[in-house]
Amino acid sequence: MPLFPPDSFIVADVMPSPNQDERKDGRPPDMILLHYTGMQTGEAALERLCTTASKVSAHYVVFENGRIVQCVPEKLRAWHAGVSSWAGETDINSRSIGIEIVNPGHEFGYRDFPLRQIAAVISLCKTIITRRGPIAADRILAHSDVAPSRKQDPGEKFPWELLSESGVGHWVRAAPLNLDGVTLKPGDRGEPVARLQRVLRAYGYGIEETGSYDDATRDVVAAFQRHFRPARVDGIADPSTLLTLRALIETRPAPFP
Ligand SMILES: [Zn+2]
Repeated sequence: MPLFPPDSFIVADVMPSPNQDERKDGRPPDMILLHYTGMQTGEAALERLCTTASKVSAHYVVFENGRIVQCVPEKLRAWHAGVSSWAGETDINSRSIGIEIVNPGHEFGYRDFPLRQIAAVISLCKTIITRRGPIAADRILAHSDVAPSRKQDPGEKFPWELLSESGVGHWVRAAPLNLDGVTLKPGDRGEPVARLQRVLRAYGYGIEETGSYDDATRDVVAAFQRHFRPARVDGIADPSTLLTLRALIETRPAPFP
């Protein structure tokens, strides 16, 4: 693969991936999707992202020491989201810029993200937002948000609060655990479940309004918790989860005109 000029000077190295094609709708990307690599080392992950047979890639890889490597030019479509959905759109690769953050993940010893790695992620997101123009705060998302039944990354240890303090992403302080009130859980049916599904769907999650707390609903609630109420990720809509969701909807930024 030929080298290409990086999209920003924050990039330390370019390592071109063959796993890329044109964005399908011709529109510029308006989402940023965050992942963890989920492999034992960052070097192994980078090698996989640049190997034809893997059929996966990302625009950027951020190492634990903060080094940023670019694998796909932003104007092209990287292959990181897989089968996914957000706000009614399913070709998330065409809509987004994908950032892989080196961490062994749940399979190989999930650990805290070092601060200098997070600082690099924040700087990278900021250069993308500043250069590309409007990317709404609520379209800076986890892979688990757009593929709740398949993916857990970047996971409940990812410090969305720090990103939010730096103006990256939409986030609210989670309501405390163990509050009194209504809990919705797998097996429940009826209007309260339908309302929960409607609200999650209105925020962007790919969930149908069935009125039945099915496996898909549990997975979406778990994805919501991983991002917004990480102290307990169990797929049960307890009062803390429901309050946090309500606060999130109430503070949602207005759409761009
Ligand atoms: Zn991912």
